[in-house]
Amino acid sequence: MTDHDHDHDPRALRAEALEAILIERGLVDPAVIDSTLDYFENDLGPMLGAQVVAKAWADPAFKRRLLDDGLGAIAELGLGGPQVDHLVVVENTPDVHNVVVCTLCSCYPWGLLGLPPAWYKSLAYRSRVVREPRNVLAEMGCELPDDIEVRVWDSSAEVRYFVLPERPNGTDGLPEDVLAEHVHRDQMIGVAR
Ligand code: FE
Repeated sequence: MTDHDHDHDPRALRAEALEAILIERGLVDPAVIDSTLDYFENDLGPMLGAQVVAKAWADPAFKRRLLDDGLGAIAELGLGGPQVDHLVVVENTPDVHNVVVCTLCSCYPWGLLGLPPAWYKSLAYRSRVVREPRNVLAEMGCELPDDIEVRVWDSSAEVRYFVLPERPNGTDGLPEDVLAEHVHRDQMIGVAR
């Protein structure tokens, strides 16, 4: 996954062509490719982001560093990745809800969240969430009160955004690994609260 995986990206076509040849020649098992992608998309990525969120909830000094210098803070946890040059972490509060998009293509903090979901790459999401974020969020099951400010962050090859969700009530004193189980991918993109 690179910065700009447009559907017509010649790199994507090359990857598909290479995959087809490797499978045809019996060099790779398509099930292995699928399970690797599935692992990346569903397990590995979002879990890493959830650990970052849990640590920020549990450790106010870490949270401050995360908001000031996202990349430096996640590097403390051994996280990052070659595609993340600048990571800007935006914090949800009772008054502000943040949501992330890449209007150009599908730039995404994949070092923390894995591969982007299909809807994130869709033209409908990319074009509409900027113009009518409340409607799009409501359609995705995230109804926001009228008095909350919605901020939409447009990712790029240079800057990746990551939402720090609000800590749920009733989670005082829980250890980080249990807190992390409360964090889901969509909250870190900002399409859920
Ligand atoms: Fe992009």
